[in-house]
Amino acid sequence: MELASFIDDVVDFPRPGIVFKDITPLLGDPTAFGYAVDAMAAPFVGSAISVVAGIEARGFLFGPSVAERLGAGFVPLRKPGKLPSDVIGMDYELEYGTDRLEVRRESSLPGAQVLVVDDVLATGGTLRAAIELVGAAGGEVAGVSVLIELSELHGAAKIHPTLLHSVLEVS
Ligand code: AMP
Repeated sequence: MELASFIDDVVDFPRPGIVFKDITPLLGDPTAFGYAVDAMAAPFVGSAISVVAGIEARGFLFGPSVAERLGAGFVPLRKPGKLPSDVIGMDYELEYGTDRLEVRRESSLPGAQVLVVDDVLATGGTLRAAIELVGAAGGEVAGVSVLIELSELHGAAKIHPTLLHSVLEVS
């Protein structure tokens, strides 16, 4: 299946110079979505992964389905202030300013083999923070799975040596 045909390129969104990868058409097509989720999960089927951790917000659109394929649970990594309980947090740098991911302190992460999931790997800062947060919460990151890797931004180097699986590599 030609998955790329279900992803729209939106030029200059949300800022001039950014080509935004809009996955809305993919989400609207059950065959393409199922194919994408299967492809994200495939290298990890039969592995020891027991938790999939998804990054807010678009990691939430794929993570639970990938988890179901792997017979794993799902843990959300959330933007600050969203979780009602005691949390562990990880700050990270953006191009302008900083951001933060948080996870419930009480989670299934301690001792778990974890797959971190997001829609797009760009500069890698978000996934780097997610990997560090899962580690701080007691999980062991066995790999990262993304639908789209923007290879010219070299995000893979930022998350090295974590195993990276990208369904689509685009430049
Ligand atoms: P980064 O930390 O630079 O790797 O950015 C990754 C995060 O930003 C992911 O959660 C993506 O959802 C989002 N993102 C970055 N660049 C794009 C893009 N060109 N199109 C869609 N989402 C993007």
